[in-house]
Amino acid sequence: MNNRALFVDRDGTLVQARHYPSRPEDLILFESIGEPLALLQATGFLLVVITNQSGLAHGYFDETALQRMNAHLHVELEKLGVRLDAVYYCPHHPDGSVATYAIECNCRKPRPGLLERAARDLQIDLKHSWFVGDILHDVEAGNRAGCRTVLVNNGGETEWIAGPYRTPTFTVLSTAEAFTKIAAEERLANPAVNSQLRIASEIGVGL
Ligand SMILES: [Mg+2]
Ligand SMILES: [Zn+2]
Repeated sequence: MNNRALFVDRDGTLVQARHYPSRPEDLILFESIGEPLALLQATGFLLVVITNQSGLAHGYFDETALQRMNAHLHVELEKLGVRLDAVYYCPHHPDGSVATYAIECNCRKPRPGLLERAARDLQIDLKHSWFVGDILHDVEAGNRAGCRTVLVNNGGETEWIAGPYRTPTFTVLSTAEAFTKIAAEERLANPAVNSQLRIASEIGVGL
């Protein structure tokens, strides 16, 4: 359990928000995220996408389409010098029309099931990991799992329903800013990260 992860929500956080993306070309990465992401990765963070994909339960697209979208994300991030380590998704929705997915599960955010599964699979220390997302359900899932959390307040959240696990560690205005903030916190917590970040920046990671 000694890996650290940067868990990131997909829609509205890693890629621009769209109504139920179903094709690779629907996924457009936010600008300016490549450099801070690559730098964080150089300090040892795994990059793991954590995403609710209830479009599967509703029959809007199938697993093959989702795999195509995942493959596209890998390629687009790789162009920025970023390695996507894993994608964990919840295909469920209690009101879904596809019977196998129409259940109450423990992995649909705000529940922390996806994070816990990733932690088991990849030996991740959740307490030393971060979850970045654009709505309070992301914050709640991350906090319930024991991670630190960053809310990207870019317009995704509109309901602002309070709750015991719904206060983020930090709030920022863009995804790039979230990664920069995390790097700064890691620097403060661990001076060795300073030299790792400096070296990564000097050798041009992510550029
Ligand atoms: Mg989102
Ligand atoms: Zn689920």
